[in-house]
Amino acid sequence: MTDVTRLHSNVPPRRSRDDVGTVLRMTETARPRRQEQERATAEISELAPNVLRSQLPIEIPGLGHVNCYLLEDERGVAVVDPGLPTKDSYAALRQRLTSAGIPLRRVHTVVVTHSHIDHFGGAGWLQRETGAELITHQAFRLMWDPTEPPDVDVDDVIEDPVDAELPDDPERHHVRRYPWQTTPWGGPGIDGISLRRRMWFRAGQRFPRLRRSPRPTIRLADAQTISLAGRDWVAVHTPGHTDDHLCLFDPEHGLMLCGDHVLPTITPHISGLGTSHDPLGLFFRSLDKVADYGDAVRLALPAHGHPFTDLAGRAAAIKEHHVHRLQRLREASSELGRPASVMHMSTVLFSPRAQGAMADSETFAHLEHLRLTGEMDRRQRDGVFEYVLAG
Ligand SMILES: [Zn+2]
Repeated sequence: MTDVTRLHSNVPPRRSRDDVGTVLRMTETARPRRQEQERATAEISELAPNVLRSQLPIEIPGLGHVNCYLLEDERGVAVVDPGLPTKDSYAALRQRLTSAGIPLRRVHTVVVTHSHIDHFGGAGWLQRETGAELITHQAFRLMWDPTEPPDVDVDDVIEDPVDAELPDDPERHHVRRYPWQTTPWGGPGIDGISLRRRMWFRAGQRFPRLRRSPRPTIRLADAQTISLAGRDWVAVHTPGHTDDHLCLFDPEHGLMLCGDHVLPTITPHISGLGTSHDPLGLFFRSLDKVADYGDAVRLALPAHGHPFTDLAGRAAAIKEHHVHRLQRLREASSELGRPASVMHMSTVLFSPRAQGAMADSETFAHLEHLRLTGEMDRRQRDGVFEYVLAG
Protein backbone atom coordinates (compact mmCIF):
# COMPACT_ATOMS: atom_id res chain seq x y z
CA MET A 1 0.00 0.00 0.00
CA THR A 2 1.37 3.41 -0.93
CA ASP A 3 0.82 7.06 -0.14
CA VAL A 4 -1.14 6.41 3.01
CA THR A 5 -0.48 8.49 6.07
CA ARG A 6 -0.42 5.82 8.72
CA LEU A 7 -1.66 7.26 11.96
CA HIS A 8 -1.66 5.26 15.13
CA SER A 9 -3.98 2.39 15.11
CA ASN A 10 -5.64 3.29 18.31
CA VAL A 11 -7.19 6.56 17.40
CA PRO A 12 -5.51 9.42 19.22
CA PRO A 13 -7.72 12.28 20.37
CA ARG A 14 -7.90 14.94 17.71
CA ARG A 15 -10.12 17.32 19.51
CA SER A 16 -10.81 17.61 23.18
CA ARG A 17 -14.22 18.19 24.70
CA ASP A 18 -13.21 21.82 25.27
CA ASP A 19 -12.27 22.32 21.64
CA VAL A 20 -15.64 21.02 20.52
CA GLY A 21 -17.38 23.53 22.74
CA THR A 22 -15.22 26.33 21.40
CA VAL A 23 -15.91 25.41 17.81
CA LEU A 24 -19.63 25.28 18.48
CA ARG A 25 -19.61 28.72 20.04
CA MET A 26 -17.46 30.08 17.23
CA THR A 27 -19.87 28.85 14.58
CA GLU A 28 -22.53 30.95 16.15
CA THR A 29 -20.46 34.12 16.37
CA ALA A 30 -17.23 34.54 14.40
CA ARG A 31 -18.09 32.13 11.55
CA PRO A 32 -14.62 30.83 10.74
CA ARG A 33 -14.17 28.54 7.78
CA ARG A 34 -15.57 25.28 9.05
CA GLN A 35 -13.78 22.01 8.53
CA GLU A 36 -16.75 20.64 6.57
CA GLN A 37 -16.08 23.38 3.98
CA GLU A 38 -12.45 22.44 3.40
CA ARG A 39 -11.71 21.38 -0.15
CA ALA A 40 -11.04 17.70 -0.72
CA THR A 41 -7.37 16.75 -0.60
CA ALA A 42 -5.79 13.61 -2.08
CA GLU A 43 -4.48 12.60 1.35
CA ILE A 44 -5.34 9.15 2.60
CA SER A 45 -4.99 8.52 6.29
CA GLU A 46 -5.32 5.37 8.34
CA LEU A 47 -7.56 5.95 11.34
CA ALA A 48 -7.64 2.45 12.77
CA PRO A 49 -6.61 -1.00 11.54
CA ASN A 50 -8.00 -1.46 8.00
CA VAL A 51 -9.94 1.81 8.10
CA LEU A 52 -8.76 4.60 5.78
CA ARG A 53 -10.17 8.08 5.25
CA SER A 54 -10.16 9.61 1.77
CA GLN A 55 -12.00 12.72 0.61
CA LEU A 56 -13.94 13.38 -2.57
CA PRO A 57 -14.74 16.82 -3.98
CA ILE A 58 -18.28 18.18 -3.73
CA GLU A 59 -19.56 21.66 -4.27
CA ILE A 60 -22.66 22.10 -2.21
CA PRO A 61 -23.19 25.30 -0.23
CA GLY A 62 -21.33 24.88 3.06
CA LEU A 63 -19.59 21.65 2.05
CA GLY A 64 -16.25 21.22 0.26
CA HIS A 65 -15.72 17.48 0.47
CA VAL A 66 -17.35 14.22 1.46
CA ASN A 67 -15.35 11.65 3.39
CA CYS A 68 -15.15 8.35 1.60
CA TYR A 69 -13.95 5.72 4.08
CA LEU A 70 -12.21 2.60 2.78
CA LEU A 71 -12.60 -0.58 4.83
CA GLU A 72 -10.05 -3.21 3.88
CA ASP A 73 -10.22 -6.94 4.44
CA GLU A 74 -8.87 -10.08 2.84
CA ARG A 75 -11.62 -9.99 0.18
CA GLY A 76 -10.73 -6.45 -0.90
CA VAL A 77 -12.38 -3.22 0.17
CA ALA A 78 -15.72 -1.71 1.12
CA VAL A 79 -16.22 1.93 0.11
CA VAL A 80 -18.39 4.08 2.38
CA ASP A 81 -20.26 7.01 0.73
CA PRO A 82 -18.71 7.18 -2.74
CA GLY A 83 -19.62 10.82 -3.46
CA LEU A 84 -21.49 12.54 -6.27
CA PRO A 85 -22.41 10.92 -9.61
CA THR A 86 -20.03 13.13 -11.59
CA LYS A 87 -16.99 12.42 -13.72
CA ASP A 88 -14.79 14.55 -11.46
CA SER A 89 -15.87 12.76 -8.33
CA TYR A 90 -15.53 9.31 -9.86
CA ALA A 91 -12.07 10.17 -11.23
CA ALA A 92 -11.07 11.34 -7.74
CA LEU A 93 -12.40 8.11 -6.23
CA ARG A 94 -10.38 6.02 -8.68
CA GLN A 95 -7.28 8.10 -7.92
CA ARG A 96 -7.78 7.62 -4.16
CA LEU A 97 -8.13 3.86 -4.57
CA THR A 98 -4.99 3.76 -6.71
CA SER A 99 -2.96 5.77 -4.22
CA ALA A 100 -4.17 3.48 -1.44
CA GLY A 101 -2.94 0.54 -3.52
CA ILE A 102 -6.41 -0.88 -4.12
CA PRO A 103 -7.34 -1.96 -7.68
CA LEU A 104 -10.93 -1.06 -8.58
CA ARG A 105 -11.86 -4.71 -9.04
CA ARG A 106 -11.13 -5.27 -5.34
CA VAL A 107 -14.16 -3.17 -4.36
CA HIS A 108 -16.63 -5.80 -3.14
CA THR A 109 -19.04 -3.59 -1.22
CA VAL A 110 -20.41 -0.05 -1.20
CA VAL A 111 -21.98 1.29 1.98
CA VAL A 112 -24.29 4.31 1.74
CA THR A 113 -25.19 6.09 4.97
CA HIS A 114 -28.30 7.84 3.61
CA SER A 115 -30.24 8.84 0.53
CA HIS A 116 -28.58 12.16 -0.28
CA ILE A 117 -26.80 12.44 -3.57
CA ASP A 118 -23.38 13.43 -2.19
CA HIS A 119 -23.42 10.05 -0.41
CA PHE A 120 -25.08 7.57 -2.78
CA GLY A 121 -24.30 9.27 -6.11
CA GLY A 122 -21.19 7.29 -7.00
CA ALA A 123 -22.69 3.99 -5.80
CA GLY A 124 -24.46 3.17 -9.07
CA TRP A 125 -21.26 3.83 -11.02
CA LEU A 126 -19.22 1.59 -8.74
CA GLN A 127 -21.84 -1.14 -8.78
CA ARG A 128 -21.93 -1.20 -12.55
CA GLU A 129 -18.18 -1.38 -12.86
CA THR A 130 -17.43 -3.82 -10.05
CA GLY A 131 -20.67 -5.70 -9.32
CA ALA A 132 -20.25 -4.71 -5.68
CA GLU A 133 -22.91 -5.29 -3.04
CA LEU A 134 -24.70 -2.13 -1.92
CA ILE A 135 -25.48 -1.84 1.78
CA THR A 136 -28.05 0.69 3.06
CA HIS A 137 -30.61 0.90 5.81
CA GLN A 138 -33.87 -0.99 5.18
CA ALA A 139 -35.79 2.21 4.50
CA PHE A 140 -33.37 3.56 1.87
CA ARG A 141 -35.36 5.37 -0.78
CA LEU A 142 -34.43 7.80 -3.51
CA MET A 143 -36.52 10.93 -3.62
CA TRP A 144 -37.42 10.38 -7.26
CA ASP A 145 -38.31 6.74 -6.79
CA PRO A 146 -41.36 6.32 -4.55
CA THR A 147 -41.54 2.64 -5.50
CA GLU A 148 -38.57 2.02 -3.24
CA PRO A 149 -38.00 0.15 -1.03
CA PRO A 150 -39.57 -2.74 -2.94
CA ASP A 151 -39.86 -5.46 -0.32
CA VAL A 152 -40.03 -3.43 2.84
CA ASP A 153 -43.17 -2.24 4.54
CA VAL A 154 -42.16 1.32 5.39
CA ASP A 155 -44.66 1.33 8.26
CA ASP A 156 -42.56 -1.33 9.97
CA VAL A 157 -39.37 0.64 9.61
CA ILE A 158 -40.37 4.28 9.94
CA GLU A 159 -42.12 5.25 13.09
CA ASP A 160 -45.33 7.20 12.62
CA PRO A 161 -45.14 7.45 8.83
CA VAL A 162 -47.01 10.04 6.80
CA ASP A 163 -49.50 8.29 4.55
CA ALA A 164 -48.13 8.80 1.04
CA GLU A 165 -51.25 7.21 -0.44
CA LEU A 166 -53.49 10.13 0.45
CA PRO A 167 -52.62 12.87 -2.00
CA ASP A 168 -55.04 15.39 -0.51
CA ASP A 169 -54.10 14.79 3.09
CA PRO A 170 -52.76 18.12 4.39
CA GLU A 171 -50.60 16.08 6.78
CA ARG A 172 -48.80 14.53 3.87
CA HIS A 173 -45.47 16.22 3.47
CA HIS A 174 -43.76 13.73 1.34
CA VAL A 175 -42.87 12.60 -2.15
CA ARG A 176 -44.72 13.12 -5.41
CA ARG A 177 -44.25 16.82 -5.17
CA TYR A 178 -41.56 18.65 -7.03
CA PRO A 179 -39.11 21.08 -5.46
CA TRP A 180 -40.51 24.04 -7.41
CA GLN A 181 -44.10 23.47 -6.27
CA THR A 182 -45.77 25.21 -3.36
CA THR A 183 -44.74 23.54 -0.11
CA PRO A 184 -47.22 21.66 2.12
CA TRP A 185 -47.14 24.61 4.57
CA GLY A 186 -48.10 27.03 1.79
CA GLY A 187 -44.70 28.51 1.10
CA PRO A 188 -42.90 29.03 -2.19
CA GLY A 189 -40.96 26.18 -3.73
CA ILE A 190 -37.39 26.51 -4.95
CA ASP A 191 -36.92 29.22 -7.58
CA GLY A 192 -34.91 29.08 -10.73
CA ILE A 193 -35.16 25.38 -11.58
CA SER A 194 -34.78 25.21 -15.35
CA LEU A 195 -37.32 23.55 -17.61
CA ARG A 196 -34.74 20.91 -18.47
CA ARG A 197 -34.19 20.11 -14.81
CA ARG A 198 -37.94 19.95 -14.23
CA MET A 199 -38.31 17.46 -17.06
CA TRP A 200 -35.45 15.43 -15.57
CA PHE A 201 -37.32 15.27 -12.25
CA ARG A 202 -40.64 14.36 -13.86
CA ALA A 203 -39.15 11.68 -16.09
CA GLY A 204 -37.28 10.26 -13.12
CA GLN A 205 -40.45 9.91 -11.09
CA ARG A 206 -42.44 8.37 -13.92
CA PHE A 207 -39.70 6.01 -15.04
CA PRO A 208 -37.38 5.54 -12.06
CA ARG A 209 -35.80 2.45 -13.57
CA LEU A 210 -34.51 4.46 -16.51
CA ARG A 211 -32.27 6.47 -14.30
CA ARG A 212 -29.29 4.36 -13.45
CA SER A 213 -29.92 4.53 -9.76
CA PRO A 214 -28.04 2.51 -7.19
CA ARG A 215 -29.95 -0.60 -6.14
CA PRO A 216 -29.36 -1.74 -2.56
CA THR A 217 -28.61 -5.47 -2.34
CA ILE A 218 -28.36 -5.62 1.46
CA ARG A 219 -30.84 -3.57 3.50
CA LEU A 220 -29.83 -3.60 7.15
CA ALA A 221 -32.30 -3.49 10.02
CA ASP A 222 -31.41 -1.71 13.24
CA ALA A 223 -28.98 -3.76 15.38
CA GLN A 224 -28.17 -6.18 12.56
CA THR A 225 -24.45 -6.87 12.14
CA ILE A 226 -22.32 -6.94 9.01
CA SER A 227 -18.71 -8.02 8.59
CA LEU A 228 -16.41 -5.41 7.03
CA ALA A 229 -12.72 -4.56 7.51
CA GLY A 230 -12.29 -7.90 9.26
CA ARG A 231 -14.75 -7.29 12.10
CA ASP A 232 -18.44 -7.02 12.82
CA TRP A 233 -20.22 -3.66 12.61
CA VAL A 234 -23.59 -3.04 14.23
CA ALA A 235 -26.23 -1.15 12.24
CA VAL A 236 -27.58 1.85 14.15
CA HIS A 237 -30.71 3.32 12.54
CA THR A 238 -30.61 7.08 13.12
CA PRO A 239 -33.61 8.76 11.44
CA GLY A 240 -33.75 12.56 11.53
CA HIS A 241 -31.55 14.05 8.79
CA THR A 242 -33.26 11.45 6.58
CA ASP A 243 -35.57 8.60 7.56
CA ASP A 244 -33.12 6.04 6.22
CA HIS A 245 -29.98 7.31 7.95
CA LEU A 246 -27.62 4.52 8.96
CA CYS A 247 -24.64 4.63 11.32
CA LEU A 248 -22.32 1.65 11.79
CA PHE A 249 -20.62 0.85 15.09
CA ASP A 250 -17.43 -1.19 15.46
CA PRO A 251 -17.32 -2.33 19.09
CA GLU A 252 -13.87 -3.86 18.74
CA HIS A 253 -12.08 -0.59 17.91
CA GLY A 254 -14.66 1.89 19.19
CA LEU A 255 -15.43 3.43 15.81
CA MET A 256 -18.76 4.87 14.69
CA LEU A 257 -19.31 5.67 11.02
CA CYS A 258 -21.84 8.42 11.56
CA GLY A 259 -22.61 9.84 8.10
CA ASP A 260 -24.33 13.22 8.41
CA HIS A 261 -26.09 12.32 11.67
CA VAL A 262 -23.45 13.98 13.83
CA LEU A 263 -21.01 16.38 12.15
CA PRO A 264 -18.08 18.05 13.93
CA THR A 265 -18.94 21.76 13.60
CA ILE A 266 -22.19 22.14 11.67
CA THR A 267 -25.66 20.72 12.27
CA PRO A 268 -27.31 18.54 9.61
CA HIS A 269 -30.38 19.92 7.88
CA ILE A 270 -33.62 18.63 9.38
CA SER A 271 -36.20 18.70 6.61
CA GLY A 272 -39.91 19.05 7.23
CA LEU A 273 -40.51 17.14 3.99
CA GLY A 274 -39.68 13.67 5.22
CA THR A 275 -41.86 10.58 5.43
CA SER A 276 -42.58 10.92 9.15
CA HIS A 277 -44.67 13.43 11.06
CA ASP A 278 -41.99 14.53 13.49
CA PRO A 279 -38.50 14.37 11.96
CA LEU A 280 -37.08 16.62 14.69
CA GLY A 281 -38.46 14.32 17.40
CA LEU A 282 -36.89 11.34 15.62
CA PHE A 283 -33.60 13.24 15.31
CA PHE A 284 -33.59 13.94 19.07
CA ARG A 285 -34.06 10.26 19.78
CA SER A 286 -31.34 9.32 17.29
CA LEU A 287 -28.94 11.80 18.93
CA ASP A 288 -29.67 10.26 22.34
CA LYS A 289 -29.22 6.84 20.81
CA VAL A 290 -25.64 7.47 19.67
CA ALA A 291 -24.83 9.49 22.82
CA ASP A 292 -25.79 6.41 24.86
CA TYR A 293 -22.75 4.63 23.45
CA GLY A 294 -20.66 6.98 25.61
CA ASP A 295 -17.02 6.01 25.86
CA ALA A 296 -17.61 2.87 23.81
CA VAL A 297 -17.13 5.16 20.80
CA ARG A 298 -13.54 6.31 20.75
CA LEU A 299 -13.60 7.93 17.34
CA ALA A 300 -16.54 9.18 15.30
CA LEU A 301 -16.10 9.11 11.52
CA PRO A 302 -18.38 11.77 10.03
CA ALA A 303 -19.19 12.13 6.33
CA HIS A 304 -17.92 15.72 6.31
CA GLY A 305 -15.14 17.26 8.40
CA HIS A 306 -12.47 15.56 10.49
CA PRO A 307 -12.91 12.45 12.60
CA PHE A 308 -13.54 13.46 16.22
CA THR A 309 -13.70 12.08 19.72
CA ASP A 310 -16.52 12.69 22.22
CA LEU A 311 -19.43 11.71 20.01
CA ALA A 312 -21.73 11.88 23.02
CA GLY A 313 -20.71 15.48 23.78
CA ARG A 314 -21.16 16.58 20.18
CA ALA A 315 -24.58 14.86 19.92
CA ALA A 316 -25.67 16.64 23.11
CA ALA A 317 -24.45 19.99 21.74
CA ILE A 318 -26.44 19.52 18.51
CA LYS A 319 -29.54 18.63 20.50
CA GLU A 320 -29.05 21.74 22.61
CA HIS A 321 -28.86 23.85 19.44
CA HIS A 322 -32.33 22.66 18.41
CA VAL A 323 -33.75 22.94 21.92
CA HIS A 324 -32.59 26.56 21.84
CA ARG A 325 -34.35 27.09 18.51
CA LEU A 326 -37.57 25.64 19.87
CA GLN A 327 -37.35 28.11 22.73
CA ARG A 328 -36.82 31.02 20.32
CA LEU A 329 -39.97 29.99 18.45
CA ARG A 330 -41.99 29.86 21.69
CA GLU A 331 -40.73 33.31 22.67
CA ALA A 332 -41.33 34.78 19.21
CA SER A 333 -44.87 33.44 19.16
CA SER A 334 -45.50 34.80 22.64
CA GLU A 335 -44.17 38.26 21.69
CA LEU A 336 -46.16 38.31 18.47
CA GLY A 337 -49.37 37.26 20.20
CA ARG A 338 -51.01 36.02 16.99
CA PRO A 339 -50.65 33.11 14.55
CA ALA A 340 -47.72 33.35 12.15
CA SER A 341 -46.71 31.49 9.02
CA VAL A 342 -43.71 29.19 8.67
CA MET A 343 -42.07 31.80 6.43
CA HIS A 344 -42.44 34.44 9.14
CA MET A 345 -41.12 32.15 11.86
CA SER A 346 -38.20 31.23 9.62
CA THR A 347 -36.92 34.82 9.91
CA VAL A 348 -36.74 34.28 13.68
CA LEU A 349 -34.39 31.32 13.32
CA PHE A 350 -32.36 32.13 10.23
CA SER A 351 -30.33 35.11 9.08
CA PRO A 352 -31.45 36.91 5.90
CA ARG A 353 -28.55 35.24 4.07
CA ALA A 354 -29.85 31.79 4.99
CA GLN A 355 -33.49 32.41 4.10
CA GLY A 356 -35.16 30.18 1.53
CA ALA A 357 -36.88 26.86 1.03
CA MET A 358 -34.43 24.89 3.19
CA ALA A 359 -34.69 27.33 6.08
CA ASP A 360 -38.50 27.22 5.83
CA SER A 361 -38.46 23.43 5.75
CA GLU A 362 -36.35 23.22 8.89
CA THR A 363 -38.54 25.82 10.63
CA PHE A 364 -41.59 23.75 9.68
CA ALA A 365 -40.00 20.67 11.29
CA HIS A 366 -39.51 22.67 14.51
CA LEU A 367 -43.06 24.09 14.51
CA GLU A 368 -44.57 20.67 13.84
CA HIS A 369 -42.55 19.25 16.72
CA LEU A 370 -44.05 21.92 19.00
CA ARG A 371 -47.51 21.16 17.64
CA LEU A 372 -47.16 17.42 18.14
CA THR A 373 -45.94 17.92 21.71
CA GLY A 374 -49.05 20.04 22.33
CA GLU A 375 -47.30 23.37 22.73
CA MET A 376 -48.54 25.02 19.55
CA ASP A 377 -51.76 25.05 17.58
CA ARG A 378 -51.88 25.10 13.82
CA ARG A 379 -54.53 26.58 11.58
CA GLN A 380 -54.77 26.95 7.85
CA ARG A 381 -55.64 30.21 6.17
CA ASP A 382 -55.79 30.48 2.36
CA GLY A 383 -53.69 27.35 2.06
CA VAL A 384 -51.02 28.67 4.43
CA PHE A 385 -50.30 27.05 7.80
CA GLU A 386 -50.10 29.38 10.76
CA TYR A 387 -48.85 28.53 14.25
CA VAL A 388 -49.59 30.02 17.63
CA LEU A 389 -48.82 28.99 21.21
CA ALA A 390 -51.51 26.63 22.47
CA GLY A 391 -53.84 27.53 25.29
ZN1 LIG B 1 -23.84 14.92 3.29
